[in-house]
Amino acid sequence: MNEARQFSYLVIGDPVAHSRSPQMQNAAFEAAGLGRPYGKLRVDPACMGEFAEYARKNLKGVNLTVPHKQVILPFVDELSPQAAACQSVNTLKIVEGKIYGYSTDGAGISGAVQENFGLALKGLNVLMLGAGGAATAIAFELGWQQSASVVIANRSVEKAQALVDKVKVHAPETLMSAIPLADESALAGAIAKADLLLQVTSLGLHDEDPAPMDLELLKLNPGLRVFDAIYRPTPLLKRAAQLGLPAADGREMLIYQGAASFEIWTNIKPSIDAMRRGYAEDGE
Ligand code: NDP
Repeated sequence: MNEARQFSYLVIGDPVAHSRSPQMQNAAFEAAGLGRPYGKLRVDPACMGEFAEYARKNLKGVNLTVPHKQVILPFVDELSPQAAACQSVNTLKIVEGKIYGYSTDGAGISGAVQENFGLALKGLNVLMLGAGGAATAIAFELGWQQSASVVIANRSVEKAQALVDKVKVHAPETLMSAIPLADESALAGAIAKADLLLQVTSLGLHDEDPAPMDLELLKLNPGLRVFDAIYRPTPLLKRAAQLGLPAADGREMLIYQGAASFEIWTNIKPSIDAMRRGYAEDGE
């Protein structure tokens, strides 16, 4: 923990070297006149108990990335309703030695869809590809924000169905269903009806990754907006842009989840423009 001694806020992950949270959060702290108190630390998941004790005594706030969002759960003293429902924590706030856990990934997708497409989630018909950690937080947010319908397409359809069953309990008014990602006719039907396609599988992170679906299906709906949670121009985003569909990568989601964390820690609304500039800086 020694390399992190000078910081009162940290992002932890394993790996974490790639994280842009320090430059993004420090830009917000600086814009608020609070210095640059935020660093990064690689934490082995097996050492989470030790880290939690360090955090209790030395830190004010933490962001958690893969694979820590569930690993931290036993060490949190109190979970927000969102974090409890998703069983996922991406933000810790430490007050007088007590650890409070939050999930701001939902706030991230709401902010990103508003910023990128000028849309609220309420009333939308959504097709989401993926049912992993990020997709779970997004599915809960879609339910809480009363999206009209949500179809979850996943490689393992049982995982998508389990997610549907969990979210339905909290969001009885949203129509929810699960389909296999490989079922092209079900996918085609969902695309034709959707206002918004959310790509939340990990496909697209690497150059050699195949697209998560047949990209020609995008032609079925000229009104579709396409969001990819990955922070780079994936084949899905490129094809959507070629077809003239509004398309956006995951950057604004990262910024808005970080902004929600900042507000939890400081009770101050951060400058989104400063965070965007910080995100675009070279890493530190
Ligand atoms: P998880 O590992 O929890 O989930 C991975 C998902 O991808 C699962 O639905 C999995 O399907 C699917 N998947 C993986 N490999 C394949 C494959 N070969 N074919 C089809 N589906 C596949 O990851 P996360 O949910 O944490 O992250 C998902 C993506 O979202 C990542 O790319 C991450 O970078 C991005 N992300 C972006 C954020 C942002 O702020 N923009 C925030 C968090 C994540 P199955 O269930 O069948 O295994």
